[in-house]
Amino acid sequence: MQKKFIPAVLVLSVLLAMFVLSGLQMERTRARFAVAETPRRVYLTFDDGPSTVVTNDILDVLKEEGIKATFFIVSDMAKTRQETLLRIAKEGHSIGVHSASHDYARIYASDEALLCDIDECAAYILEVTGVKPRLYRFPGGGHERQKELIRERGYAIIGWNAVCGDEELKDASAWELYQEAAKTSRGKDPVVLLLHDSARHRATAEALPSIIARFREEGCVFCAF
Ligand SMILES: [Zn+2]
Repeated sequence: MQKKFIPAVLVLSVLLAMFVLSGLQMERTRARFAVAETPRRVYLTFDDGPSTVVTNDILDVLKEEGIKATFFIVSDMAKTRQETLLRIAKEGHSIGVHSASHDYARIYASDEALLCDIDECAAYILEVTGVKPRLYRFPGGGHERQKELIRERGYAIIGWNAVCGDEELKDASAWELYQEAAKTSRGKDPVVLLLHDSARHRATAEALPSIIARFREEGCVFCAF
């Protein structure tokens, strides 16, 4: 290369390097914004219902707020509350199998007993709503050994990563449930919040509007499974 061209080549190389680096920086900035633009997701999940008063109060709140949630049904409870189970389905919420009896000793007596319990609950949901459930939640939490069996039956197993404390905190007020939901869901995305809608959980229905308002203030979107 002739000596007179060397400065020009150096300048061009520096310009090229600056161009590539600025491109990379723009990509990084774009990626950062893309992450920030994705809203945090919240799944409200209700176990152990339906009950008459609490489930209907919860459905009223969800309707008013335009939110779809997921209900894990106990079919022995639903048998005397068919219209509430039907309302859950008609209003577009997701329905999953929780149990027929919710009696741990019976359900976990053997693998066959567990599958029988699931089949019984699923058959009842199908009979009333016309929809074959595809979601399952273990009564009392996860049982690693049996998860595969249940997946083989075509269910997605849904756990949770946040609670409102309506089972854990004894006689908690709506305010305490609200605070527990805020505390346990902090920093999680998505949030899968465990709540209960059986008859003794009136405080849960009372806490629900403030729980929803808080997630909305944080820019979250609500989803159903
Ligand atoms: Zn339960």
